[in-house]
Amino acid sequence: MSDPINRLQLVFERFPGIGPRQAGRFVQFLLRSSPSLRRELAAAIEDLGGSVRQCPKCKRFYAGTDKLCSICENILRDPSLLAVVAHDTDLAAMERSGAFRGLYYVLGGTVSLATDKHEHLCIGDLAASIADRAREGLHEIILALPANTEGDSTAVRVRDKLEPACAEHDITITTLGRGLSTGSELEYADPDTIQNALRGRK
Ligand SMILES: [Zn+2]
Repeated sequence: MSDPINRLQLVFERFPGIGPRQAGRFVQFLLRSSPSLRRELAAAIEDLGGSVRQCPKCKRFYAGTDKLCSICENILRDPSLLAVVAHDTDLAAMERSGAFRGLYYVLGGTVSLATDKHEHLCIGDLAASIADRAREGLHEIILALPANTEGDSTAVRVRDKLEPACAEHDITITTLGRGLSTGSELEYADPDTIQNALRGRK
Protein backbone atom coordinates (compact mmCIF):
# COMPACT_ATOMS: atom_id res chain seq x y z
CA MET A 1 0.00 0.00 0.00
CA SER A 2 1.38 3.41 -0.91
CA ASP A 3 1.37 6.24 1.59
CA PRO A 4 -2.06 7.99 1.26
CA ILE A 5 -0.47 11.43 1.68
CA ASN A 6 1.96 10.75 -1.11
CA ARG A 7 -0.72 9.19 -3.27
CA LEU A 8 -3.04 12.21 -3.07
CA GLN A 9 -0.14 14.58 -3.66
CA LEU A 10 0.72 12.74 -6.89
CA VAL A 11 -2.92 13.05 -8.02
CA PHE A 12 -2.91 16.83 -7.44
CA GLU A 13 0.39 17.15 -9.32
CA ARG A 14 -1.39 15.93 -12.44
CA PHE A 15 -3.72 18.97 -12.38
CA PRO A 16 -2.97 21.71 -14.94
CA GLY A 17 -0.62 24.35 -13.56
CA ILE A 18 -0.05 22.56 -10.25
CA GLY A 19 3.49 21.70 -9.17
CA PRO A 20 4.69 19.54 -6.26
CA ARG A 21 4.69 22.43 -3.77
CA GLN A 22 1.11 23.45 -4.42
CA ALA A 23 0.03 19.80 -4.51
CA GLY A 24 1.62 19.36 -1.08
CA ARG A 25 -0.24 22.41 0.22
CA PHE A 26 -3.58 21.02 -0.96
CA VAL A 27 -2.91 17.76 0.87
CA GLN A 28 -1.89 19.62 4.06
CA PHE A 29 -5.05 21.72 3.82
CA LEU A 30 -7.20 18.60 3.52
CA LEU A 31 -5.40 16.90 6.41
CA ARG A 32 -6.26 19.87 8.61
CA SER A 33 -9.84 20.18 7.33
CA SER A 34 -12.93 18.64 8.91
CA PRO A 35 -13.91 15.11 7.85
CA SER A 36 -17.16 16.57 6.52
CA LEU A 37 -15.28 18.77 4.03
CA ARG A 38 -13.27 15.79 2.85
CA ARG A 39 -16.49 13.79 2.43
CA GLU A 40 -18.08 16.64 0.49
CA LEU A 41 -15.07 16.84 -1.83
CA ALA A 42 -15.02 13.09 -2.41
CA ALA A 43 -18.77 13.04 -3.13
CA ALA A 44 -18.55 16.02 -5.52
CA ILE A 45 -15.77 14.28 -7.46
CA GLU A 46 -17.74 11.04 -7.51
CA ASP A 47 -20.78 12.89 -8.91
CA LEU A 48 -18.76 14.15 -11.86
CA GLY A 49 -18.86 10.61 -13.19
CA GLY A 50 -22.60 10.12 -12.66
CA SER A 51 -24.56 13.28 -13.43
CA VAL A 52 -22.23 15.21 -15.71
CA ARG A 53 -22.24 14.61 -19.45
CA GLN A 54 -20.29 15.92 -22.40
CA CYS A 55 -22.43 17.65 -25.02
CA PRO A 56 -22.04 15.70 -28.28
CA LYS A 57 -22.40 18.90 -30.32
CA CYS A 58 -20.12 21.42 -28.59
CA LYS A 59 -18.08 19.07 -26.32
CA ARG A 60 -18.66 21.14 -23.18
CA PHE A 61 -19.47 19.42 -19.91
CA TYR A 62 -22.84 20.03 -18.26
CA ALA A 63 -24.91 18.62 -15.44
CA GLY A 64 -28.21 17.00 -16.34
CA THR A 65 -29.77 14.35 -18.51
CA ASP A 66 -30.72 16.40 -21.59
CA LYS A 67 -29.33 15.18 -24.91
CA LEU A 68 -27.63 18.49 -25.69
CA CYS A 69 -26.34 21.24 -23.39
CA SER A 70 -28.49 24.31 -22.65
CA ILE A 71 -26.58 26.49 -25.15
CA CYS A 72 -26.80 24.07 -28.10
CA GLU A 73 -30.48 23.50 -27.31
CA ASN A 74 -31.36 27.18 -27.06
CA ILE A 75 -33.22 28.20 -30.24
CA LEU A 76 -32.52 31.87 -29.48
CA ARG A 77 -28.77 31.38 -30.05
CA ASP A 78 -27.47 32.47 -33.45
CA PRO A 79 -26.40 29.38 -35.47
CA SER A 80 -24.58 31.56 -38.03
CA LEU A 81 -21.70 32.15 -35.57
CA LEU A 82 -19.52 29.47 -34.01
CA ALA A 83 -16.78 30.34 -31.49
CA VAL A 84 -14.04 27.73 -31.18
CA VAL A 85 -12.49 27.86 -27.70
CA ALA A 86 -9.80 25.83 -25.96
CA HIS A 87 -11.51 25.17 -22.62
CA ASP A 88 -14.94 25.15 -20.97
CA THR A 89 -13.66 27.99 -18.77
CA ASP A 90 -13.10 30.17 -21.89
CA LEU A 91 -16.68 29.50 -22.94
CA ALA A 92 -17.83 30.52 -19.46
CA ALA A 93 -15.86 33.79 -19.71
CA MET A 94 -17.46 34.60 -23.08
CA GLU A 95 -20.91 33.85 -21.66
CA ARG A 96 -20.24 36.14 -18.69
CA SER A 97 -19.29 38.95 -21.09
CA GLY A 98 -22.77 38.75 -22.65
CA ALA A 99 -21.16 39.82 -25.95
CA PHE A 100 -21.67 36.60 -27.88
CA ARG A 101 -25.00 35.05 -28.92
CA GLY A 102 -23.70 32.37 -31.26
CA LEU A 103 -22.79 28.74 -30.59
CA TYR A 104 -19.54 27.27 -29.27
CA TYR A 105 -17.17 24.41 -29.85
CA VAL A 106 -14.73 23.35 -27.10
CA LEU A 107 -11.50 21.78 -28.38
CA GLY A 108 -10.48 20.52 -24.96
CA GLY A 109 -7.04 22.18 -24.90
CA THR A 110 -4.37 23.59 -27.18
CA VAL A 111 -1.59 22.05 -29.24
CA SER A 112 1.35 21.38 -26.95
CA LEU A 113 4.41 23.06 -28.43
CA ALA A 114 6.80 20.82 -26.53
CA THR A 115 5.40 17.66 -28.10
CA ASP A 116 3.24 18.97 -30.97
CA LYS A 117 0.56 16.70 -29.52
CA HIS A 118 -2.94 17.44 -30.72
CA GLU A 119 -4.67 14.06 -30.74
CA HIS A 120 -6.52 15.02 -27.55
CA LEU A 121 -8.24 17.89 -29.33
CA CYS A 122 -11.62 17.29 -30.98
CA ILE A 123 -10.64 19.00 -34.27
CA GLY A 124 -11.64 16.08 -36.49
CA ASP A 125 -15.17 15.95 -35.04
CA LEU A 126 -15.56 19.65 -35.70
CA ALA A 127 -14.38 19.31 -39.29
CA ALA A 128 -16.82 16.44 -39.81
CA SER A 129 -19.73 18.54 -38.54
CA ILE A 130 -19.22 21.52 -40.87
CA ALA A 131 -21.69 20.37 -43.54
CA ASP A 132 -24.46 19.85 -40.95
CA ARG A 133 -23.70 23.19 -39.35
CA ALA A 134 -23.77 24.90 -42.75
CA ARG A 135 -27.28 23.54 -43.25
CA GLU A 136 -28.21 25.05 -39.88
CA GLY A 137 -27.01 28.44 -41.13
CA LEU A 138 -23.34 28.64 -40.09
CA HIS A 139 -21.53 31.55 -41.81
CA GLU A 140 -18.55 32.35 -39.61
CA ILE A 141 -16.20 30.40 -37.36
CA ILE A 142 -14.42 32.59 -34.82
CA LEU A 143 -11.18 31.14 -33.46
CA ALA A 144 -11.28 32.38 -29.86
CA LEU A 145 -8.04 30.77 -28.69
CA PRO A 146 -5.51 31.98 -26.11
CA ALA A 147 -3.31 34.89 -27.24
CA ASN A 148 -0.04 32.95 -26.85
CA THR A 149 2.16 30.74 -29.01
CA GLU A 150 0.24 27.54 -28.15
CA GLY A 151 -3.05 29.29 -29.00
CA ASP A 152 -1.57 30.53 -32.27
CA SER A 153 -0.31 27.12 -33.35
CA THR A 154 -3.67 25.60 -32.41
CA ALA A 155 -5.37 28.21 -34.62
CA VAL A 156 -3.10 27.25 -37.54
CA ARG A 157 -3.91 23.57 -37.08
CA VAL A 158 -7.68 24.15 -36.76
CA ARG A 159 -7.69 26.43 -39.81
CA ASP A 160 -5.85 23.78 -41.88
CA LYS A 161 -8.37 21.12 -40.89
CA LEU A 162 -11.46 23.26 -41.45
CA GLU A 163 -10.52 25.18 -44.56
CA PRO A 164 -11.61 22.64 -47.22
CA ALA A 165 -15.11 22.16 -45.72
CA CYS A 166 -15.46 25.88 -45.01
CA ALA A 167 -14.53 26.83 -48.58
CA GLU A 168 -17.08 24.36 -49.89
CA HIS A 169 -19.87 25.80 -47.71
CA ASP A 170 -18.88 29.48 -47.96
CA ILE A 171 -17.98 29.81 -44.27
CA THR A 172 -15.46 32.47 -43.18
CA ILE A 173 -12.86 31.71 -40.51
CA THR A 174 -11.89 34.70 -38.35
CA THR A 175 -9.78 35.20 -35.23
CA LEU A 176 -10.40 37.40 -32.21
CA GLY A 177 -8.94 40.91 -32.43
CA ARG A 178 -5.98 41.57 -30.22
CA GLY A 179 -7.91 43.46 -27.58
CA LEU A 180 -6.59 40.55 -25.57
CA SER A 181 -3.06 41.29 -24.47
CA THR A 182 -0.43 38.87 -25.71
CA GLY A 183 -0.08 35.81 -23.55
CA SER A 184 -3.48 36.22 -21.95
CA GLU A 185 -6.06 33.51 -21.57
CA LEU A 186 -9.64 34.29 -22.50
CA GLU A 187 -10.66 32.79 -19.20
CA TYR A 188 -9.19 35.73 -17.26
CA ALA A 189 -10.29 38.50 -19.63
CA ASP A 190 -12.89 40.98 -18.41
CA PRO A 191 -16.20 41.41 -20.31
CA ASP A 192 -15.14 44.68 -22.02
CA THR A 193 -11.95 43.10 -23.33
CA ILE A 194 -13.89 40.15 -24.71
CA GLN A 195 -16.43 42.47 -26.33
CA ASN A 196 -13.61 44.47 -27.98
CA ALA A 197 -11.82 41.33 -29.11
CA LEU A 198 -15.06 40.10 -30.70
CA ARG A 199 -15.70 43.44 -32.37
CA GLY A 200 -12.13 43.57 -33.67
CA ARG A 201 -12.12 40.07 -35.15
CA LYS A 202 -10.68 39.62 -38.60
ZN1 LIG B 1 -23.54 21.88 -26.40
